[in-house]
Amino acid sequence: MAVDFKVIVIGRGMMGAAAARHLSAMTEGVALVGPREPVERKSHHGVFASHYDEARITRTFDDNMAWATFAGRSLDRYVEIEAKSGIPFFTEAGCLFAGPAPQPGQGYLGRAIEVSAKLGVDFETLDAHALRERFPQFSLRPSFSGYFEKRRAGHINPRALVRAQVSLAEAGGVTLIDATVTGVRDAGTHVEVTAGDRILTGERVLAAAGGFSNFNELLPDPIDIRVAARTVVFYELGEREMAIFGDMPSSIVFGDRDEDHVYILPPVRYPDGKTYLKLGGDTEQRTFETLQDAGAWFRSDGDAAERELLVAAASDLMPDLAGCPVTMAPCVATFTPTAYPMPDSRRRRGSRC
Ligand SMILES: Cc1cc2nc3c(=O)[nH]c(=O)nc-3n(C[C@H](O)[C@H](O)[C@H](O)COP(=O)(O)OP(=O)(O)OC[C@H]3O[C@@H](n4cnc5c(N)ncnc54)[C@H](O)[C@@H]3O)c2cc1C
Repeated sequence: MAVDFKVIVIGRGMMGAAAARHLSAMTEGVALVGPREPVERKSHHGVFASHYDEARITRTFDDNMAWATFAGRSLDRYVEIEAKSGIPFFTEAGCLFAGPAPQPGQGYLGRAIEVSAKLGVDFETLDAHALRERFPQFSLRPSFSGYFEKRRAGHINPRALVRAQVSLAEAGGVTLIDATVTGVRDAGTHVEVTAGDRILTGERVLAAAGGFSNFNELLPDPIDIRVAARTVVFYELGEREMAIFGDMPSSIVFGDRDEDHVYILPPVRYPDGKTYLKLGGDTEQRTFETLQDAGAWFRSDGDAAERELLVAAASDLMPDLAGCPVTMAPCVATFTPTAYPMPDSRRRRGSRC
């Protein structure tokens, strides 16, 4: 049977947009299907995404060889994607890690130093004194040391990166379809994808729907992912705070336990015209297993208890933020059992290939 597309990519997010761009260089007949960001989050009852923001940290310093390698490869492509699409998304603000001085090879920082040495990552080690001198906007414990990647690190604008990838994919012949998929059916010789009021037919489907991959019948069986709540807080900065925090790098600060880290995005201008410094953490345990629950979370303001933890961390680390208006927002982080991305190939129920 003649089909509409060779490959239908579901999900116009960080992964789906990149996949569509790569596929456009490999074959004709690619469709990228996904809705644009909802205009009004609180009244939206469809799917959401984890890239609805203006800043995500990017760096190679990492305690895991695979992730450090993936990050390095991504960073290598930013310049070309920006130049070809004409859409800037990368800010080379640098990235600082700080925490209790590690034992060699132990804990996140100890492992990251070893991985970085193997990969030849260019970073600077700062003792407590140098850390205070270089980054006076932070109030760090005297026992802390720092690891600073000045180049090839900082933050990207995830919305702009998706726009850039989509624009290059379209330039390469990909058909962009602005719709939410509500069903995928294996018809034997081909696959049928219900996208809004259309049925698209394709030889193959690539589902890249992030935390929403197990909803809307996209897959023959659910994949083993944990979709966890994440709350971030935003500090609205005025001129006084901009003078203090304006040139800070992206930062990740550890506590006594690795899991108690917070990450901090430097001041970034948001679509409302205001400039915010953002903080987040990684300890929230709440998970979502239905579209209804995940959607309700995205329509909420996030978790009040997490906000208090993040505000306490901010007061401790950056006392000069005192008095800034604070708001918060929800998001989801998706985890596979291995903590690696999970490329997975499936057919009908029970007959995986
Ligand atoms: C608070 C927070 C902070 C983060 N900070 C960082 C950071 O600093 N650095 C970093 O590298 N990463 C960070 N991340 C992670 C990063 O945002 C995600 O890894 C990334 O967004 C995942 O990309 P994705 O394409 O898998 O999913 P998403 O970006 O969520 O995209 C999924 C896409 O699929 C679409 N979709 C879903 N269901 C359907 C459907 N049924 N039909 C059609 N389309 C559908 C959605 O509309 C969306 O566009 C952070 C995440 C969170 C939550």
